[in-house]
Amino acid sequence: MKVLISSCVLGNEVRWNKQGKLNSEVVEWAEQNDIELIPVCPENELLGTPRDKIRLIQIEEKTCAHYKNRDIMEELKSKCQEILERYPDASGFIGIYGSPTCGISVGVKNLGSVTKGVMHKQCQMPTVESNALRNENNRKIFLRRLNK
Ligand code: SF4
Repeated sequence: MKVLISSCVLGNEVRWNKQGKLNSEVVEWAEQNDIELIPVCPENELLGTPRDKIRLIQIEEKTCAHYKNRDIMEELKSKCQEILERYPDASGFIGIYGSPTCGISVGVKNLGSVTKGVMHKQCQMPTVESNALRNENNRKIFLRRLNK
């Protein structure tokens, strides 16, 4: 089974500051369960690395992705969609906490609540954050969702 994963979770140095965030537990879990992890990084594809941080900000009814004084939300959505369509045989996506693109609960300035990161919003498959997979029960639940 193929599962997409935020590239930085595999240790690839694609974060805004050119660092990775390897989560070896997720890698081991995937190996044990015959899951092929496919690294994806929408922000690196769209903006390159290193880059400035994207910040989510609410302006009236719209959640904007602020980058270098402009709103790149539509470009980010298109890139995520393009990546998801590239892998029609994938069964799910594993993101990472805090990222406006790959996090599940991301803070939005002026909104007073959180929103789903763009990859999770665009994804029709089961998604999770890598941190949640540190917990045995969560791993079982995600595996069941992948196999449905
Ligand atoms: S966009 Fe996603 S994969 Fe890329 S660095 Fe940010 S969190 Fe990692």
